Amino acid sequence: LRDHVAETRVAMMADKPKIRIIAVGSGKGGVGKSTVSANLAVALARMGRKVGLVDADIYGPSQPRLLGNEGVKPRATEKKLIPVPSQWGVPVLSMGHLIEAGKAIAWRGPMAGNALGQLVDADWGDIDTLIVDLPPGTGDVQLTMLQRHKPLGAVIVSTPQDLALIDATRAMQLFEVGHVPVIGLVENMAGYACPHCGEISDPFGKGGTEATAKALNHPFLGRIPLDLSIRQQSDAGTPPAAGNGPQAEAFAAIARRVAT
Ligand code: ADP
Repeated sequence: LRDHVAETRVAMMADKPKIRIIAVGSGKGGVGKSTVSANLAVALARMGRKVGLVDADIYGPSQPRLLGNEGVKPRATEKKLIPVPSQWGVPVLSMGHLIEAGKAIAWRGPMAGNALGQLVDADWGDIDTLIVDLPPGTGDVQLTMLQRHKPLGAVIVSTPQDLALIDATRAMQLFEVGHVPVIGLVENMAGYACPHCGEISDPFGKGGTEATAKALNHPFLGRIPLDLSIRQQSDAGTPPAAGNGPQAEAFAAIARRVAT
């Protein structure tokens, strides 16, 4: 009987389709990694993927705000958390759902790693893709993610600015050392259209991310402009990828490249 149980268990595990984990990282904070994670998840869901989103930015969670389900507490089974639904078809789990709003977390690495485990190994139901919004940089949470959860690949977000690109390159090295392939780079905050005169300016430079992708032999996944409406919609919990404007198309184009 024991053999039979073991065989059945192996067969069940083989039947269960594996969840593709895609980590979204950046070298430094404030470049739009969380914005890209949320909108990539929504754009993939619009393409018919069953997508979940983990906010692994444990020290500065922002996904509950971005997906408009702030203040909702996740339910839990005996052993696992149950992700919080959002109206965009993407269930989410974030430390922001577990702590009081505005409260700081001062954890050491191992605690943060365990918290990440609870979010990733939650009861995700029948999703096929899990987007994980990592904290910026190359710290304990990123290492735990690579070692314990084996992402299929990583998407790196950078602005076109030199400093951000140097840090992004460092983040990519971490993934490569951990044998997690870089799926590609996204350039965020590229080109700003003045709402008054329409003139396009480039506050953070131009084309730097694409050039870095080329130099390092990684795919370039696309660019998202610096756009006041992206900031406004994000703050209102309405991801631009769920809309119909050019921003939605820009995120959809990136999602199509990530999906292939
Ligand atoms: P990170 O996760 O890298 O720290 P966020 O996604 O939190 O960055 O973005 C930082 C701030 O910049 C947020 O207020 C966000 O709304 C804004 N932002 C991000 N991308 C854009 C963009 N393309 N256009 C305008 N504002 C943006």
